Amino acid sequence: MGRQPGSARRAAETESTKTPRPPLAGEPLALDLVNTTFIHGGLRGSLVDALATPADLDLWLAEHAEAFPREPARRASAPAAASRLEEFRRLREALRELSRACVAEEPYDEQAVAVVNRAARLAVSWPEFGERTEDGPVVRWAEPDPHRVLLGTVAVSGVELLAGPGRHDVRACAAPGCILYFVRTHRRREWCTPGCGNRVRVARHHRQRRS
Ligand SMILES: [Zn+2]
Repeated sequence: MGRQPGSARRAAETESTKTPRPPLAGEPLALDLVNTTFIHGGLRGSLVDALATPADLDLWLAEHAEAFPREPARRASAPAAASRLEEFRRLREALRELSRACVAEEPYDEQAVAVVNRAARLAVSWPEFGERTEDGPVVRWAEPDPHRVLLGTVAVSGVELLAGPGRHDVRACAAPGCILYFVRTHRRREWCTPGCGNRVRVARHHRQRRS
């Protein structure tokens, strides 16, 4: 990095000590996982991985607790093991490939499908009678490890989205330098976030003024 005035350098340092969060959330879980790799800082920005450490995974799971079944989400509040992080990253890679193929209207890659299908089985659950009838049905999971149940839940979200009718609404953000995916919830949505829309409009404006 070149020399910067003191205040700018301090700002950059504060920035670098804290990994930026993904600019988009609230998509189906599968896309929110895919979108944990993103470009920060526009066209000349840098690639950020918001799932680089087990602590990053803990944070991401906590941020999405509402979207997960309550019991395994509660038990998964214990720190994640490095091996679990690896499994989430592998699922993310497979889901990114399938999202890309979905948007490009290409056949899905068999290996990526196999990774997602295998993970989806971890979400298997069924209702049982609990100890007291008044408590109502108790949900049990075949998989004892809560982190793997959550992994399965993300995979199921991916299967439902990318194999279901919603796949026709999956979009890759068209802004240059953006790698995020989203579900087009209304017909005029072209960008992942208003930030990307603004960048594109500003660039278009500059191009027009030059020509
Ligand atoms: Zn975007």
